[in-house]
Amino acid sequence: MKIISEVKDAKKIAIGGHVRPDGDCVCSVMALYRYLQKELPETQIDVYLEKPAAVFDCIQDIDKICSDFQTDQVYDVFFALDSNDERLGDALSIYQKAGRRINIDHHISNTGCGDLNIIEPQRSSTAELLYDLMDPEKVDEEIAKAVYLGIAHDTGVFRYSNTSPHTMEMAAKLLRFGFDFSALLEHTFYEKTYVQTQIMGRAVLESVRFMNDRCIVSMVSRRMMDFYQVNTKDLDGIVNQLQVVSGVDCAIFMYEIGTLQYKVSMRSNGKVNVADVAVKFGGGGHVRAAGCTMNGTYHDNINNLSREIAGQMKRAEQKERA
Ligand code: AMP
Ligand code: MN
Ligand code: MN
Repeated sequence: MKIISEVKDAKKIAIGGHVRPDGDCVCSVMALYRYLQKELPETQIDVYLEKPAAVFDCIQDIDKICSDFQTDQVYDVFFALDSNDERLGDALSIYQKAGRRINIDHHISNTGCGDLNIIEPQRSSTAELLYDLMDPEKVDEEIAKAVYLGIAHDTGVFRYSNTSPHTMEMAAKLLRFGFDFSALLEHTFYEKTYVQTQIMGRAVLESVRFMNDRCIVSMVSRRMMDFYQVNTKDLDGIVNQLQVVSGVDCAIFMYEIGTLQYKVSMRSNGKVNVADVAVKFGGGGHVRAAGCTMNGTYHDNINNLSREIAGQMKRAEQKERA
């Protein structure tokens, strides 16, 4: 399937992604936006997404994103990228009203929520999947840059196990456009503000290991966020920092989003399927990176997650022995 053949008769197209959009989500949405704008200059194309982190200001037209979801517009086509319908947040009603819904995603937990579903869990990122749906002749430097950054963010800069030979071949093609990839990665992925570094340090300092040191957990409360004057976007990367501790099979990071409500992020080295754990609590993701929202006290949430993780570890060990 090529994207344009699906939408060439549409007069109004909307593009959206998941709540708290990450690099893959932001960049996929923006790459598709530019691609469709170039290909269909007569068509109205709107992007609905929560405001991306400031580091993505380097992506062209990022200021065209509409983060106000109150609209009477009814679209002929809505592209939901890197997300299922449940994670579209306030864009859900716009999605539901659209004439045709196209869902493009790589989350193993997504069973497809569109009239057309392109869900490929073996893909590193939605950006990678999207690029293969584009006509390479029509891709320009700005699109290439967004696709490259989307892939880089979801692979931890080509480091996680979702990085395939195909991912690298694609990255090589994209680099030929000549953008300054090194500066872009530095700016959007590695660079942290002082307070981001401080709160990461605090979370690491207060982390606790359990289950014979095979799991590690930490939490950031609303009070801590107020103290350091940070918001939830400033907490990216903390769970990854916990995961690199040697001997750890599963890292858990939570931050408070409301009274007795936490956003949970999990990372695994493959021994624990954190997507399965997250799905049990209404979330989802990938085998090695997943998330969910949980209600209850911090300690109750740890207990509930531990039960699932311990069950998985036990089953994995039984399988190894058999
Ligand atoms: P995070 O821990 O938020 O960085 O998310 C890790 C991975 O799991 C990402 O691919 C997310 O898109 C996915 N994910 C996080 N939370 C959820 C959720 N509630 N439902 C489905 N997927 C999720
Ligand atoms: Mn994402
Ligand atoms: Mn993704």
